[in-house]
Amino acid sequence: MMESTTLISLIEEFGSEEKCRAYLEELRWPDGPECPRCEEPTTVSRIASRNQFECDKCRYQFSVTAGTLFHDSHLPLWKWFLAVYLMCESKKGMSAKQLQRMLGGSYKTSWYLCHRVRAAMGEDEQPLLTGTVEVDETYVGGKRKGYGAGYRGNKVIVAGAIERGGDIRLRLVPNTRRHNLEKFIDSTVDEDAAAIYTDELKSYDGITGKNHQTVEHKAEEWVRGDVHTNSVESAWSLLKRSIVGTYHHMSVKHLPAYLAEMEWRFNRRENPYLFRDTLLVLLHGDALPYSVLIERDDPGERQRENDALMRREAKRQARQGRKPC
Ligand SMILES: [Zn+2]
Repeated sequence: MMESTTLISLIEEFGSEEKCRAYLEELRWPDGPECPRCEEPTTVSRIASRNQFECDKCRYQFSVTAGTLFHDSHLPLWKWFLAVYLMCESKKGMSAKQLQRMLGGSYKTSWYLCHRVRAAMGEDEQPLLTGTVEVDETYVGGKRKGYGAGYRGNKVIVAGAIERGGDIRLRLVPNTRRHNLEKFIDSTVDEDAAAIYTDELKSYDGITGKNHQTVEHKAEEWVRGDVHTNSVESAWSLLKRSIVGTYHHMSVKHLPAYLAEMEWRFNRRENPYLFRDTLLVLLHGDALPYSVLIERDDPGERQRENDALMRREAKRQARQGRKPC
């Protein structure tokens, strides 16, 4: 596998089902196929006519994608490879709609495919950030007809911490009260980080045990020497461009998965083997059935409460013969 894959080299190298399958076998079993059911190594025979293997000991028949996130009865592997490539290489991400336009098939198939790749992109273990860390929070979500640009009822809050020249951590937070932001910082930033820079939001006052400094955006003080939050702010602009430009109708319940996807790409921006590494986590991830995906726990409770509140408010204003402002 060459360094930094281009679309051309991808097609040359993985332009057929056989080539994709052979590559996955190499990645999953560098020492030759192993029976997933037997604990000790056994001999395994290839059933060439069905792209499967059979364990000589327990007679279990399996394919290279069995039990992995690739598991799918009908989707060709080359479509998987292209989807993974496009999702890794598009800085702002790739929507299911766009993928459908490029790969054909139904929207549902594209949507499900995107979500399985995204599921693999979640990082299980994230080290705490050290060095100079910028922390900030932002509102994410659509504008609402008739409610003006300042309306926030339709939005959720994402907290972000970024180590300068290093990794990013993104989390949904319920609000910007101090204990929530403190909890976020404690779970993402090392106690011995050299410095934490934030804006002047009151909730950041009194962050203890760390060299904490703020810049006062209200006083138009954007940069004071080394003290600024420019890195985390460029991450917000990337996040917003991908949400506005790519995922037009993103549901709040899937937002944590989109944030994980953004972290995955950002934290590997200098990894020339990103494509291969993403295939690897797909091979090592558990299958994600469609039914599980659509029943995922819904953190959109607040969203629904807000919607109900806004409907009541709109009705009240309509009764009074006023247009909502
Ligand atoms: Zn076996």
